[in-house]
Amino acid sequence: MQTHEIRQRFLDHFERNGHTVVPSASLILDDPTLLFVNAGMVPFKPYFLGEVPPPYRRATSIQKCVRTLDIDNVGHTTRHNTFFQMAGNFSFGDYFKEGAIGYAWELVTSAQDAGGFGFDPDRIWVTVYTDDDEAANLWQKVAGLPEERIQRRSGKDNYWDMGVPGPGGPCSEIYVDRGPEYGREGGPVVDEDRYLEIWNLVFMQDQRGDLSPKDGHPPVGELPSKNIDTGMGMERVALLLQGVSNVYETDLLRPIIATAERLSGRRYGADASDDVRFRVIADHTRTGLMLVGDGVTPSNEARGYVLRRLLRRVVRSARLLGITEPALGEFVATARDTMSPSYPELATEFGRIDAVVRAEEDAFLATLTTGSRIFDMAVAETRAAGGTVLGGDRAFQLHDTYGFPIDLTLEMAEEQGLKVDQEGFRRLMAEQRERAKADAAARKTGHADASAYRSVLDQHGRTDFLGYTDLTAEAR
Ligand code: ATP
Ligand code: MG
Ligand code: MG
Ligand code: MG
Repeated sequence: MQTHEIRQRFLDHFERNGHTVVPSASLILDDPTLLFVNAGMVPFKPYFLGEVPPPYRRATSIQKCVRTLDIDNVGHTTRHNTFFQMAGNFSFGDYFKEGAIGYAWELVTSAQDAGGFGFDPDRIWVTVYTDDDEAANLWQKVAGLPEERIQRRSGKDNYWDMGVPGPGGPCSEIYVDRGPEYGREGGPVVDEDRYLEIWNLVFMQDQRGDLSPKDGHPPVGELPSKNIDTGMGMERVALLLQGVSNVYETDLLRPIIATAERLSGRRYGADASDDVRFRVIADHTRTGLMLVGDGVTPSNEARGYVLRRLLRRVVRSARLLGITEPALGEFVATARDTMSPSYPELATEFGRIDAVVRAEEDAFLATLTTGSRIFDMAVAETRAAGGTVLGGDRAFQLHDTYGFPIDLTLEMAEEQGLKVDQEGFRRLMAEQRERAKADAAARKTGHADASAYRSVLDQHGRTDFLGYTDLTAEAR
């Protein structure tokens, strides 16, 4: 079953059950606490916080999400994307635990020709929060799950809050057992590779006063009206229904790997480290496409910097696969082809998107060669001095002068068996930010006197900066 159809089935199921279908919000919302929308409930936050009365009591959506937290997992785990689609159903003071469990169970286990996903009920495991007897009982009553497939868990995974005083509540996660060939028996608590989390149900029932509810921090009261917030990963359902081994091999991403195979002449599945690169290319290309689609452009600040890191990582991964020509444009075009059935605006906006990513690739390729030489010298120096840690000043120089995102330096250093003085790097970054602030303040108050430069220019004429091309000074 293709992802496009999985999405449709989810929405149809909840629409049949009285939910209003709400289109995905942009990845960029005006929310100072978030770089990107990272969960389906984010656009509904004002309703959950009681700031705005909800226009419906039941809603369903498939929300575009970006989780930069998962960046290092990409290509290594079977289940983490930086961009993914979170399907959700929401109840605002309407149905609660029993309804949420009932709807979820029906969609997950009813036969495919009856509109469901057709998962074998014997392969479903769930977790509930430590003391959530109500949910544990409902899983037995509504779904007929035996007690041994209902696991109790504490902590962050099974208790949800917004990090601010407001609603919170226990979660219940649904897992599918992929079978003994994927790992050890015993449920998700024992092995999360074998048991794949597909869906998280949040039961908003508590009023939280403190900022970080951990075990042992009791809520201050009960919410006057209880809410449901759920999130199901479409890529993970696709992985299971398409019988592939990880999310990068599903229908929306595998074609990008195929493009990389064609351009590199290498084969996916032939070499473990190449495979990670193929998967990174597929994942990050798609995230880049979706971010540029929603109006982000590469820069050195916040969102733009995340985008820059992702795109540059694609370019570098392509180089490591032996692709020397610009390739980002082709990767992004492949991603557009797989994604535009669900997101038609990607096709109509493609001229702009294409121009942005190609410009970023050109800029990066121009500095990559030079930067790599600086990097190689730094490695040689470090080794010659018997060290194992690349200086923070070098990492800073690579970032500042050659546009190397720090994770690129980290990755390259790791390949050389070296560490990087990240603290030193961060200190230099902070100092630079302070300087920039002071400069900006000076400009605002007019204290910076540029007339000195004027007279130098008048006396000596223009000089061209050779630092990007002429490395002799560096080499000495
Ligand atoms: P995991 O424990 O696997 O990292 P999570 O508990 O962090 O997942 P939730 O925050 O509960 O995930 O998000 C709800 C659902 O969204 C998950 O059950 C999963 O199906 C999906 N999901 C979460 N993170 C990702 C990701 N990085 N890539 C793809 N799907 C994801
Ligand atoms: Mg996670
Ligand atoms: Mg989890
Ligand atoms: Mg979860």
